[in-house]
Amino acid sequence: MALAEAREKRSSFTPMMIEEDAALRNGSRRPPPGPWADAAAAAAPRPRTTERHIAVHRRLVLGFAVSILALLAVTMVAVLLSVRFEECSAAADGPARAGGNGSLPGAARPPPPGAGQPPGRAAEEAAAARGGEEAAAEEEEEEWQRRREPPPWARPRLPRHLRPLHYNLMLSAFMENFTFCGEVNVQLEVRNASRYIVLHAHRMHIEAVRVAEDKLAGAVRVANFFLHPPTQVFVVVLNRSLEVQRSYNLKIIYNALIENELLGFFRSSYVLHGERRFLGVTQFSPTHARKAFPCFDEPIYKATFKISIRHQATYLSLSNMPVETSVFEEDGWVTDHFSQTPLMSTYYLAWAVCNFTYRETVTKSGVVVRLYARPDAIRRGSGDYALNITRRLIEFYEDYFKVPYSLPKLDLLAVPKHPYAAMENWGLSVFVEQRILLDPSISSISYLLDVTMVIVHELCHQWFGDLVTPVWWEDVWLKEGFAHYFEFVGTDYLYPGWNMEKQRFLTDVLHEVMLLDGLASSHPVSQEVQQATDIDRVFDWIAYKKGAALIRMLANFMGHSVFQMGLQDYLTIHKYSNAARNDLWNTLSKALKKVGKFVNIQEVMDQWTLQMGYPVITILGNETTENIITISQERFVYGSDAKPDPDFGDNSYLWQIPLTIAVGNTSHISSEAIIWVSNKSEHHRIPALEEASWLLANINQTGYFRVNYDIRNWRLLINQLTRNHEVISVSNRAGLIDDAFNLARAGYLPQNIPLEIIRYLSEEKDFLPWHAASQALYPLDKLLDRTENYNIFNEYILRQVASMYLKLGWPTNNLNKSLVQASYQHEELRREVIMLACSFGNKHCHQQAATLISDWISSNRNRIPLNVRDIVYCTGVSLMDEDVWEFIWMKFHSITAVSEKKILLEALTCSDDRNLLNRLLNLSLNSEVVLDQDAIDVIIHVARNPHGRDLAWKFFREKWKILNARYGEALFMNSKLISGVTEFLNTEEELLELKNFLKSYEEGAAASFSRAVETVEANVRWQRLYKEELFQWLRKSLTS
Ligand SMILES: [Zn+2]
Repeated sequence: MALAEAREKRSSFTPMMIEEDAALRNGSRRPPPGPWADAAAAAAPRPRTTERHIAVHRRLVLGFAVSILALLAVTMVAVLLSVRFEECSAAADGPARAGGNGSLPGAARPPPPGAGQPPGRAAEEAAAARGGEEAAAEEEEEEWQRRREPPPWARPRLPRHLRPLHYNLMLSAFMENFTFCGEVNVQLEVRNASRYIVLHAHRMHIEAVRVAEDKLAGAVRVANFFLHPPTQVFVVVLNRSLEVQRSYNLKIIYNALIENELLGFFRSSYVLHGERRFLGVTQFSPTHARKAFPCFDEPIYKATFKISIRHQATYLSLSNMPVETSVFEEDGWVTDHFSQTPLMSTYYLAWAVCNFTYRETVTKSGVVVRLYARPDAIRRGSGDYALNITRRLIEFYEDYFKVPYSLPKLDLLAVPKHPYAAMENWGLSVFVEQRILLDPSISSISYLLDVTMVIVHELCHQWFGDLVTPVWWEDVWLKEGFAHYFEFVGTDYLYPGWNMEKQRFLTDVLHEVMLLDGLASSHPVSQEVQQATDIDRVFDWIAYKKGAALIRMLANFMGHSVFQMGLQDYLTIHKYSNAARNDLWNTLSKALKKVGKFVNIQEVMDQWTLQMGYPVITILGNETTENIITISQERFVYGSDAKPDPDFGDNSYLWQIPLTIAVGNTSHISSEAIIWVSNKSEHHRIPALEEASWLLANINQTGYFRVNYDIRNWRLLINQLTRNHEVISVSNRAGLIDDAFNLARAGYLPQNIPLEIIRYLSEEKDFLPWHAASQALYPLDKLLDRTENYNIFNEYILRQVASMYLKLGWPTNNLNKSLVQASYQHEELRREVIMLACSFGNKHCHQQAATLISDWISSNRNRIPLNVRDIVYCTGVSLMDEDVWEFIWMKFHSITAVSEKKILLEALTCSDDRNLLNRLLNLSLNSEVVLDQDAIDVIIHVARNPHGRDLAWKFFREKWKILNARYGEALFMNSKLISGVTEFLNTEEELLELKNFLKSYEEGAAASFSRAVETVEANVRWQRLYKEELFQWLRKSLTS
């Protein structure tokens, strides 16, 4: 599963205005804000006064008409619903159709309407049945109370006495009223005798239940059955116990809604030729299969599945396996019977009902790959890029893992709405359109990279996750860490010149996650979870990014070829089954043993996966004894006065650290040596250490830790960078920059060291160190951007950027294939430098952006180079007058390409006009104008803008109830919103506001809020302790 913002880029600092730029505002100051700026202002351009009156009148009439229509619609849906549900239940009562293939609930009759009972009766019966269920549940619970034991359905995990072997699932989907009914037949194996069957089921109506002993076909009488919502299970109470080692068939007939919420079996829609079309699709990971059919919804319960879907013939249906047969009925309905799946878990089962079209390709090994999307996108060829790389990637993974892709086909489905960027369902992976469709004529390289990496990620899961599945959610990082790591390895296969794993991994994964994991309120990468409601929270950056960083460290100290051999063994041994982290460690230790190396991987890795945070290594040269250095380790934390973890006094944190180290002098660096550091403090002899030589540790930043040196060594490193930076590798240059900024921010290092390091950048021609610097400057910029002396900092950064900006100039070419291959690094470097120049107020950069925008407006042709469009839009909105904002707003509405839409929306947040920012914030909650998933980005981007930070923070507090209701269930989005709005608050007053706010509303997102408090505390603390030190040094440096 790829999280929605898996590759979000902090693409631009909000440009700062310098005085001269006022000229760019085309002379006129904007008029004072009118009532239009108000919350409710509509998305369309503002009407004039008389028009406004007419519009208001019209709106009232329209509103009345809409309410009448809505009432009618609700009544009709209610009627239809009752009719549909009646149909399912009628079918359930029909002649015995126990579980044979091809018979479907509802198939016995044509779809209604009319016949039979008056509508409404079914609803009454359902209510009566619910009453009955409650009584049954109470009765059973009382019996367990007498036994003084919690009943098996009240425990957070399923009881282990049953195991599903095979499911026959037959569904009828009614797209016209968004309901479905199903019949599931589960073949069960009994491990311990019990008269209870407990399995997951949630938000559905159970019509009928039957239990029969498999071979003899003798029914076992059902005494009772009921749903137990607190643990999301369904309980069947039998008159006698099921016997050990026998197998039984459990048949359940049920119905439910095709939900509007993006979980379980849900619906979404799109507009084609002016007509709204609907589709139904599933999202089961991690715990939502139970909303679509009763099942044993834990990853350990692997079974085979045979699915049939009945739907109107105007739709097509898809599932994990190919369709075996389709049976057409006379009344325009069709039933698709899919082939049986291999053994698999419920969370990556999937189906869809839609009227998409597709394009197809075939791999060398004969796997049929299809990309399904809305017909207009397929016609435009927007899926061709994804289809093409998918074919190549399947071939890559088959070769790398030496395990063939396991299913006959793989469908990629592009849907308009999805709670995540994508989901790796085996054979039917689902992607949100923005993460898979790509129109080469209007997509930037970074958009292409995003699309590529999401696809590489989901394809890796076909092996890591689908073929071999984690035993339980605590080790979700086992699949997510691998998929995230392979995003870089797989992209290197597609674009060999890009060096993703060696370079981009540092800035996009390692540096980012160390920011998060450096908080005292972090958590270990393996974290215990039980309750369904907690399981969503294990899908976070720590699982994805720290997981990937640990895997990379492991691959490096094992050696890549041994690591690859180990993975091949692991997948071969555990295929179609589950594995826990120790299974992986054991296989990898054995792989090392085969090449004559003995490392107890489990012992090493347990410290990294079970302890939170990471170490900072400090290397001190010894003044008196030559060649001896002292290496010590301690846990790195941003606010060192933050409370230590009560379970683990901070002093007891220790890691076994594979520390690589090299010695260098002006023209040469030694080959690296590895030192395993496992104590708090150790002495080591370094033979070649001479007077003027420096030490460099964590070579190429393959380790998950930071390194600090004594000031003398830092000075020697800075000298080296200034004189001849190429002696130090690109990844180490980026690593030094990131370590220095973060060590200074946490107070381990004087504030001037990082600023001195980046002086060498005027000679730096590689992208990565620039990118690392830009990322590290970002939080520092946000700490300073509302302070009086900000211009000193601004001036200093501008000086470092100026010469490289002049050297590189602006791009002219647009994306084409050969450019992507050949000069990705160069284009990205140019983009990074332009971004810094424009953000910090380089005059030429501002003029260039303004000229490009004016040209667009006057010619109505967008000639802005693709790779810098976001920078130009943002700069234009921030510098130029309100008409530009309106122009971008209009374009945002009229354009259909998703990539372009996103950057237009973000550009609107760059304005320094507080009225416009307020207007935008309020509009963001209107789902008709801004998609739910994009509204969060609007709020966060306004918070990044120094002119909007307090507005976003106030808006967040005022609308928290609405926001929490909207995103509360989607924990990842919720926590992204919370951290995005709060992470750059940095005054005592804001800290107090945050704490007061939490007193009133903490429910639901406690972990995100405690992270937020810790971050703001660290910001305030930095301001108090180090801000002046920084400004003093900057002042001196600018005047000298
Ligand atoms: Zn994933």
